[in-house]
Amino acid sequence: MRNRTKMVHGGITSDEQTGAVSVPIYQVSTYKQDAAGKHRGYEYSRTGNPTRYALEETIANLENGVAGFAFGSGMAAITTVMMLLDAEDHVVMTDDIYGGTYRLMTKVFNRFKLDHTYVDTSVPEKVEAAITPKTRALYIETPTNPLLKITDLQKMSEIAKKHDLLLIVDNTFATPYWQQPIDLGANIVLHSATKYIGGHSDVVAGLVVVDSIELAEKMHFIQNSVGAVLGPHDSWLLMRGIKTLGLRMEAIEENTRSIAAFLQSHHKVSSIHYPGLTDHRGHDIAKQQSSGFGGMISFDVGSGELTDQVLQKVKYFTLAESLGAVESLISVPAKMTHASIPKERREELGITDGLIRLSVGIEDSEDLIEDLEQALE
Ligand SMILES: *Cc1c(COP(=O)(O)O)cnc(C)c1O
Repeated sequence: MRNRTKMVHGGITSDEQTGAVSVPIYQVSTYKQDAAGKHRGYEYSRTGNPTRYALEETIANLENGVAGFAFGSGMAAITTVMMLLDAEDHVVMTDDIYGGTYRLMTKVFNRFKLDHTYVDTSVPEKVEAAITPKTRALYIETPTNPLLKITDLQKMSEIAKKHDLLLIVDNTFATPYWQQPIDLGANIVLHSATKYIGGHSDVVAGLVVVDSIELAEKMHFIQNSVGAVLGPHDSWLLMRGIKTLGLRMEAIEENTRSIAAFLQSHHKVSSIHYPGLTDHRGHDIAKQQSSGFGGMISFDVGSGELTDQVLQKVKYFTLAESLGAVESLISVPAKMTHASIPKERREELGITDGLIRLSVGIEDSEDLIEDLEQALE
């Protein structure tokens, strides 16, 4: 099955029993047993729910994995994945990682003695150098947020195999439409499905896919023990979102390319971060490991004042956190998504007050460009 067909026909997408072409919303918590302990596959909805299961099968299919797991948020998914590890274990992580993941590791999991080191994973030698005898996993985000840095997943896979580490990839930005990390050697792929997979700014959810039965059993045990599961209604919304994921990503990327070209020609824009641009540092690797470059782009206008002006004047870009929806969003990472990262650390990473991040939507690109043009004036 080709990628765009998979979005419509991959996994479980209809109801065997009734022929319904959309999976029904099983709004149910418990299931009648035929005899004590004898059930028909479902006993309690934290453990398993048919609507959630259909979504889990669908995402496993899209990511070419063995099993999928759905959670109440991306952070719930990441938390559950981290619980595969033990106290005293060590994780090597991408340094300009999603702010919430940074907070989870430095303010929550540190209290449980789960250790970590942040490195620029776009430089494989630095990853290798950060590995200690206690390292159990590599945690990679590519492209990153908001600087769109690219990490070579094939290289990470080689390093992970050599040191017997789990390779975990946050694939939120690339989506399974453009990038399938398991094919490149990842063991666990996760998503904030709140973003492109949902795609309509109407659901908060997280997804995980694993590459082996052994990991699937461990994940299901922790998913059921911790209980941060996704409800049936939200599971259904994600399945609806997935059906148009391919179409949306094509439209979003076309718009993003046009906007990138416009920003390149604008004298007030000092630097542009988009892996689709040939002068982007990670362009060649992105081209190798993904079939598209996505819809996230960030650029520097040099000052907090001009940033404020742009935010005031844009009409079609909604000032909001989050990304990946049909409507274009604009944000200032330093004040919003990355506000929980200390200022010195932000500056170190290049997340200045003049950095603006766009999540490009599916509107007409001419309207979007005209909007940015008048806002920058
Ligand atoms: C949003 C996001 C998360 C967290 O997901 P939530 O659904 O907000 O909990 C994790 N990783 C990335 C890359 C994100 O963009």
